[in-house]
Amino acid sequence: MNYPNTRLFIGDRWRDASDGRTISVVNPATGEAIGTVAHAGEPDIDHAIAAAQQGFLAWRSLASAERNRIMRAAAALLRTRATEIARALTQEQGKPLAESAAEVAAAADMIEWFADEGMRVYGRTVPSRGSLAVRQLVVFDPVGPVAAFTPWNFPINQVVRKLSAALAAGCSVVVKAPEETPAAPAALVRAFVDAGVPAGTLGLLYGDPAQISSRLIAHPVIRKITFTGSTPVGKQLAALAGKHMKRVTMELGGHAPVIIAADADLSQALRTVGLSKFRNAGQACISPTRFLVHESVYDAFAEALVAQTAALRVGDGLAADTQMGPLANPRRLKAMADLTADAIASGARLLTGGARIGESGNFWQPTLLGETPLSARAFNDEPFGPLAALRSFNSLDEAIGEANRLPYGLAAYAFTRSIPTAERFSREIEAGMLWINMSAVGSAEMPFGGMKDSGYGSEGGPEALQAYLNVRTVGLMCN
Ligand code: NAD
Repeated sequence: MNYPNTRLFIGDRWRDASDGRTISVVNPATGEAIGTVAHAGEPDIDHAIAAAQQGFLAWRSLASAERNRIMRAAAALLRTRATEIARALTQEQGKPLAESAAEVAAAADMIEWFADEGMRVYGRTVPSRGSLAVRQLVVFDPVGPVAAFTPWNFPINQVVRKLSAALAAGCSVVVKAPEETPAAPAALVRAFVDAGVPAGTLGLLYGDPAQISSRLIAHPVIRKITFTGSTPVGKQLAALAGKHMKRVTMELGGHAPVIIAADADLSQALRTVGLSKFRNAGQACISPTRFLVHESVYDAFAEALVAQTAALRVGDGLAADTQMGPLANPRRLKAMADLTADAIASGARLLTGGARIGESGNFWQPTLLGETPLSARAFNDEPFGPLAALRSFNSLDEAIGEANRLPYGLAAYAFTRSIPTAERFSREIEAGMLWINMSAVGSAEMPFGGMKDSGYGSEGGPEALQAYLNVRTVGLMCN
C-alpha cells in the first residue's frame, strides 16, 4: 500500500548498499513484508564517515541565520508531507495514525525551536583579574561529526531530537536509524536534504547495528556519540566511547513509578496516566509501568483502571477507531507473554488482558496485574509494552522507597492534592523527569533525559545544545 523502499543517504545522494544487500520490512499489524531497506556494508560506513567530515566543514561555516533558514525549511516540508509520512510510520511501526501524525507535527516543532536556539549560542567575556588590557573570552564551537543511534519505538521523534540539536550547534550527523522502521526516519532526513543542507551534513545508514556502531564510535572523525535504546546496549556503547574518549549522551530504559497518594484525584490519574500507559502500545521509555497505590484507594482505582483498560480498542493502526496498535515486533510479544506468566507464577492477580489477540500481527491485550509481588519480573524489568503492574502501599516512605528501588531513573509520576506531599515527591524521587497530577509532556524547550542506569545527558532545552558544543577559553593581551 504505497510503502516506500528505503535507501542509504551518503554525501549528496540516496544510494543502494554498495553490495546491493537489503533487509525486509514487516508490517506488525499483518506480519507481511511490505518493503525493504538497504543494508550498509563496510565501504558504505567508511564513505559516510568521510562525507560527514566534509559536511561538518561546510555546515559549520554557514552563518547561524542561514542554518536557521534551512532547518525551518525542513520543518515546513515535514508539515507539507505529514499525511504521507504518518501513513508509512504506522505501516512499519504499528501505532495508530493519529499518534504517527502527532509525531510528525512534534518533529516540525522541535526543528523550529532548535533552529532558533542555534542562533542563541552566545559566548561571554569575563573581566580579567590582572589587567584591563586582557580580554578573556568563553567560546562555544560545534564538537564535530556526530554518530547517532536511534530505536524503532518513535522512529521520527528519537532521530529529530538528536538531529535538531546537533545541526543547530553546527555539527554534521551520521544517523544509524532502526532497520525495522526505516521509512519514517528517511522521510525526516529527506526533508533536511530537500531543504538544502550541504552535502555530507547528514548521513543515514541501516544495517548491522553492532558493526556500524563499532566502526563509527572508534573512528577518529566522529567526535560525539548519542544513543537511545536499552540500558545493556547503552552500557556497551558508552564503554566503547570511553575507550576512544568520545563524548556521549545516553537515553536508555526506564520503569516509571506512578504514586497514587491517599488524597489523589483518581479520575485525574485515570484520564492521564491511565490512558498514556497504552500510548504506542506502552513501547515508550517514559511509559507509566509501576503503579503504587495507597491502600485506602487501591480497590477503587484498580477497578476503574481495569474498566477503562478493558474497553480500549486494539487494532490495525490504519483503522480510524483504533486506540492501540500491535506491538512493533515479535520480540515484544514474547516479552509480554513471559512477564505475564512470571507475574502470575509469583502470585500476582491478572486483572485484565494477558493474552495475544489473533494469530496474525503482534497484537497483545492491554494487560494489568494486581497485588504484584516485588519479586515479580514485571516489577523489576522494563516491560516496554502494554502491561502495567499494580501494588498497594501504606506510607509515603514506603512508596518513595519503592519508586527509587530500581537502578532506573528516567520518568516518574505522582498524584496528590497536598502541596507538601508534592514538594516531597519533587525532592526525593530519583528520576530525570517527574510529572505530578499530569501525563508526560515532552517539548523541545524542556530537558529530556534520565539518571542512574537510565543514562545521562539531556535531549531537550538549552542543555541539549550544550551536548554538541565544545567550550574554549581564549585570553587576549591587547597591548
Ligand atoms: P535491543 O536492546 O537489541 O535494541 C535496542 C536498540 O538498540 C535497537 O534500536 C537496536 O537497533 C539498537 N542496538 C542494539 N545493539 C546495538 C549496537 N551494538 N550498536 C548500536 N545499536 C544497537 O532490544 P530491542 O528488542 O530492539 O528493544 C527492546 C528493549 O530496548 C526494550 O526492552 C527497551 O528497554 C529498549 N528500548 C528503549 C528505547 C528508549 O526509548 N529508551 C527504545 C527502544 C527500545
